[in-house]
Amino acid sequence: MEKRDEITDASPTDAVSSDAKGHRVRLIAGVVAAVVFGVALVAAAVAYATRPIPVMVDGHRRMVPQHTTVAGLLAKHTIAIRNGDLIAVISRRVLRAGGGVTGTIVVDSRLATPGTQVREDSVVSSVVGTDIVEPTRSARVTIVPGSHFSGHGPYVVLSDPGQEGVRIVTRGAVSGELVTTTLIAQARPGMITRHGYTGRAKVISLTFDDGPWPGTTQQILAILAKYKIKATFFMIGTQVERNAAVARAVANAGMSIGNHTQTHQGLAKLSASKVMWQIRTDQSTIVGATGVRPLWLRPPGGEMSRIVYQQANAAHMRLMLWDIDPNDWKRPPTATIVSRVLSAARPGAVVLMHDGGGDRSNTVAALPTIITKLLKAGYHFETLDQMFGR
Ligand SMILES: [Zn+2]
Repeated sequence: MEKRDEITDASPTDAVSSDAKGHRVRLIAGVVAAVVFGVALVAAAVAYATRPIPVMVDGHRRMVPQHTTVAGLLAKHTIAIRNGDLIAVISRRVLRAGGGVTGTIVVDSRLATPGTQVREDSVVSSVVGTDIVEPTRSARVTIVPGSHFSGHGPYVVLSDPGQEGVRIVTRGAVSGELVTTTLIAQARPGMITRHGYTGRAKVISLTFDDGPWPGTTQQILAILAKYKIKATFFMIGTQVERNAAVARAVANAGMSIGNHTQTHQGLAKLSASKVMWQIRTDQSTIVGATGVRPLWLRPPGGEMSRIVYQQANAAHMRLMLWDIDPNDWKRPPTATIVSRVLSAARPGAVVLMHDGGGDRSNTVAALPTIITKLLKAGYHFETLDQMFGR
């Protein structure tokens, strides 16, 4: 209540105080106006200072903030660095896009760094890096000599090992494209001489492969014993391991034993060390089981290569193929096996048959007829050692 009265009482002094108030208001308004103007000025200055500027980027007009650097242009993908390519030495095809020299950025005709700033109307361009041709690599390449064959017959002798040749071959290191090839030394082919029986006797040699085979091998031994005939058995090492007693029976019967490799793997595509392993392992397996050291080697399937000739020589073994192959392992009828052998029989022939590798009952059944007919025709039977000498 009292306060309200005071306010009412104060009204007579209003004229004086409103005059002083008017000064204050004008002062405040002036300051505010000055501040607003100042702020506007600063804002305008800032706006001017940061307004986008036009630049030419690779022939296109672009608006960018002032003080933009090359790094900034790259970051915003306004421009890109374009490297050269890695290209093939001969075909010039691109092996790796961007694998060449790093591209550069030029600002106003000057090589720019990432920190280079663009100015209004700057001309910015991306210069593609040059292509790089792939490096080349030279290698010494062995020329494997071929083989010359001469003569006829089942006994195969490497009469001259020949000589490897050498060439230097240069290729693209990435593409492999051939650049040059330089002959350093010509290869000299090996000489393979095939021998047949040269004696005058009417002899023939029976050979049995892929054993020892339980049952079949003993049946064949019994037939041979009945006619007092000696033959040659080319044994597989793994078969000897499984059937050592059968292998011993062959040796005890006075038969000749040959090496038919340890596992009966085709030798033509094997490395030298693998061929040698096949030969040596079978040798020691046979020697271990029978005490007989084979002289003859018959590669499975007759598969041979330059390596096989060389490794047989190194192992001091003689390579023996055959003259007559009735294909008995395909189990043709007994009469077919008989007629195939008899129709091809001639003095000095080596006959290939099988005591192992599966059911050979047709071979066993054919054998007595083959033997009696040949004996009747005047042949006598020899082992390979007897026919070709040991
Ligand atoms: Zn075989």
